[in-house]
Amino acid sequence: MSELKVLHAAAEVFPLVKTGGLADVVGALPQALRAQGADVRLVLPGLPAIVDAVLHQKTVCTLGPLFGAGRITLRLGQLPYSHVPAYVIDAPYLYRRGGSPYQSSTGVEWADNLQRFALLGWVAAHLAAGELDPTWVPDVLHAHDWHAAMACAYTAAHPPTTAATVFTVHNLAYQGLFPPGDFPLLGLPSRFMSAQALEFHGQLSFMKAGLKFARRVTTVSPTYAVEMATHEFGCGLEGVIRSRGSDVSGILNGVDGAVWNPATDAGIIARYTAECAEPDRIAKARCKSALQAELGLCDDPRAPLFSVVSRLTPQKGLDLVLAALPGLLQGGGQLALQGAGEPGLEAAFSAVAAAHPGRVAVRIGYDEAFAHRLMAGADAILVPSRFEPCGLTQLYGLRYGTVPVVRRVGGLADTVVDASDHALSQGSSRATGFVFDHATAAALSLAIERVISAYAEPGLWCDLMRNGMTRDFSWTGAARQYLGLYRGALEST
Ligand code: ADP
Repeated sequence: MSELKVLHAAAEVFPLVKTGGLADVVGALPQALRAQGADVRLVLPGLPAIVDAVLHQKTVCTLGPLFGAGRITLRLGQLPYSHVPAYVIDAPYLYRRGGSPYQSSTGVEWADNLQRFALLGWVAAHLAAGELDPTWVPDVLHAHDWHAAMACAYTAAHPPTTAATVFTVHNLAYQGLFPPGDFPLLGLPSRFMSAQALEFHGQLSFMKAGLKFARRVTTVSPTYAVEMATHEFGCGLEGVIRSRGSDVSGILNGVDGAVWNPATDAGIIARYTAECAEPDRIAKARCKSALQAELGLCDDPRAPLFSVVSRLTPQKGLDLVLAALPGLLQGGGQLALQGAGEPGLEAAFSAVAAAHPGRVAVRIGYDEAFAHRLMAGADAILVPSRFEPCGLTQLYGLRYGTVPVVRRVGGLADTVVDASDHALSQGSSRATGFVFDHATAAALSLAIERVISAYAEPGLWCDLMRNGMTRDFSWTGAARQYLGLYRGALEST
């Protein structure tokens, strides 16, 4: 088969625009697909950080007026670092503004998000139809999350398109819901505003455009693929997902080893490998000591240092960390958190840091470089999510010998092997972390107790670190699975 041409449509890409794991995936997966021979391009909204950073941009065509934007220039350039070709939709009226891709700097959703992300989907669909750049027509259009999901509806409304559409759900909880009265702005035939299409309990759902119209639907772990079809995790879309049957599958995310690798990470004070030999242990201890100093934590090499790197939202279960904190501190532990999100959680964590100087340190905000130092310096990483499509921080923890403590849900269940008594009694077990079942403070507290007693046994702790660090979570396997899925989608035309 000739080189498969794949167009990824997404709102974020690491390192240019990132609010969460989506950006890491969109940054890494295209490179992994290219390494396996695919011809991959991206289409991205012209947010300031993207317009300013994409290299060698050349105009492909001009468009407009569309979705309220009078002047739109579609340019093709290359992502810095990876040199993956990327189409940039430069629509200053819709995209050139501060804040996040989705909200103003005061946390208010942009009032014109429907137009902003309809345009992303529209351009992706028309690229796939060969209408905007006839020199490069993709075989597969791969749309990520609700922001790009309209690409699937516009493609469905455009029968001559031969490209197969694939839609990946990175988080079902963010759906892109809009008032039904805005439907005419989309320029779609009226049949698309029905329960069989975009209508969702009286609203207009971009997420449903992807779930209904993509030829294949994927999510970022096999367990979340199953969970999405249940009432508990389906966010009201479980019926739609169930109706797609075997078109829905889960492919586990990987780790970008060029970005997250303690053996090469230039942002940490000392580098170490998975061998866990003496020099590695010394290097990891230096990272811990430097982190404790940076955060004003007591310089105590024997205190198990727990970390959190997270958006602060109810999804992440961090209220459980607050509730379990007394036990963590009584057991001699320390806590270091980097996070941003809900003001109530930010205030609660800031308050516990103030109440426990030297034992709890909290940094509110988003800081990519600090996340690396935290990952390298901590002993354990807490990810007690209520739901978790894949989760990347536990994977980074595994890579950095920072033992994950996770709830048995979604991708967390797929990536961490519990150090159960049974597993440990079997000598050289495969255990890589600590897994608990219920989203309760009691269950997390028990897991933390288990961590603290395992940490007191250096041989056992070393085994856990080594087991985690040597697990293969590279993107190579995931890219191979996506290529298989793309071929299956093309054959099912
Ligand atoms: P989600 O996408 O739900 O936020 P993931 O675990 O899939 O969760 O991905 C989160 C990504 O964002 C990881 O790369 C993590 O390191 C990063 N991250 C989250 N919060 C912060 C923060 N406050 N500072 C730096 N990086 C963060």
